[in-house]
Amino acid sequence: MRNKRNPPRQPLSQSRPKIVSKTKLLPPPKKARLLRAPTSLAKADGARTTAPKPRRGPASRRAPAAKRAPEIFARLHRAYPDARCALDFASPYQLLVATILSAQCTDKRVNMVTPALFGRYASPETLASAKPEELEEMIKSTGFFRNKARSLVGMATAIADRHGGAVPSTMEQLVDLPGVGRKTANVVLGNAYHRDEGIVVDTHVTRVSQRLALTTSTDAVKIEQDLMPLFPRDQWTLLAHLLIEHGRRICVARTPKCEQCVLSDLCPSSRV
Ligand code: SF4
Repeated sequence: MRNKRNPPRQPLSQSRPKIVSKTKLLPPPKKARLLRAPTSLAKADGARTTAPKPRRGPASRRAPAAKRAPEIFARLHRAYPDARCALDFASPYQLLVATILSAQCTDKRVNMVTPALFGRYASPETLASAKPEELEEMIKSTGFFRNKARSLVGMATAIADRHGGAVPSTMEQLVDLPGVGRKTANVVLGNAYHRDEGIVVDTHVTRVSQRLALTTSTDAVKIEQDLMPLFPRDQWTLLAHLLIEHGRRICVARTPKCEQCVLSDLCPSSRV
């Protein structure tokens, strides 16, 4: 019997609670917030709180490297008219010895050592027969003296044996000598033989040409390849001296003196 207590059963379709889509129960999404890039990657470690502003500056700074290169050379040449090789030498042999000694050492220190060295070992033949301990003692203050002594004796022996005692004047023959790489060969060719075969890339040339956006490379050989097409060949040797001079005086490693720099309006890294 059906009564109020036992109401008639409803069809299933009516008795089940209506299923409401879950998504409808969620509060309406808040207006999407614009996501901003973090102000600084270094913010997380508290090192910096604001991103470095891109240095725009005058349009001359944003010109392609090939457009800026001639003016960069001209201004550096005006600023450093006496730029030259800072190593003291009187012959290709002496320059080769001095350049090998200058690795990881200042030119000033090398110039203090070489007069006595050239007096004692005046030619590749005498250097080839040097007693290692005696040679090491003479060049000790330039650092890495054992390796350098080995390179000097190896280089001198090769010159005496294969080149009749004369320092070769081609890139191929020079880099074939023990302890002589492309940079050393460029120094000798450019300054002792006045041959612009390449551009010397040392720590100053690397830093300054990177800051000037003449290269993005960190590898010396690639930096040289980037620089060579930007400057006429007969400027290559002098260019290295100019960049080195600028790197020593103004575009120093730690804090470049951009406010004194003659290239400020041509340099994408300028801080002024
Ligand atoms: S403007 Fe500054 S960073 Fe650029 S070359 Fe001059 S000193 Fe170096």
